[in-house]
Amino acid sequence: MPEPAPMPADTPPRDAAIPRLPIGPGAYVLLIRLGRPIAIAVRTLPGATLLPGWYAYAGSARGPGGIAARVRRHLAAEKTARWHVDHLTLNAQEIHPLAFPGDSECRVLRALAALPGATIPLPGFGASDCTTCPAHLVALPAESGLAAEGGLAEFRQAVAGMRQTAAPDRD
Ligand SMILES: [Zn+2]
Repeated sequence: MPEPAPMPADTPPRDAAIPRLPIGPGAYVLLIRLGRPIAIAVRTLPGATLLPGWYAYAGSARGPGGIAARVRRHLAAEKTARWHVDHLTLNAQEIHPLAFPGDSECRVLRALAALPGATIPLPGFGASDCTTCPAHLVALPAESGLAAEGGLAEFRQAVAGMRQTAAPDRD
């Protein structure tokens, strides 16, 4: 499947973190907060609804501009919905990107799914081309503390740590 065309460079970012993201290839996580229910149609669950709360989406970027370009596209306030995750990013109250240079989205997804209380809300979401993951989106429990001061920093550390412990086969 061909890579989607890169977005124009003048797409306005919603988050000042973009300039700090790597321009090389790798995986990324979008930590997304929904403030209202969103209807999402995936092949496995037509007519499903995502409830308000926190979600984490794992993706990978291998095209021009790497992780920074892909995340910039995800954070664009206006775009044509093309991927499952676009329905979340277009309706999100908050989006926080995390970069994992040189890593794979499936390895990062396993770390996310291992977080305490994480669930798979929509089997198949974002994983149409993946044969190993149940989905590339996890729902995080309200008590995960993400909205509290320091909660996001703790989440970043938890995902980074889980990624390493979840990958004992790394050379
Ligand atoms: Zn996968």
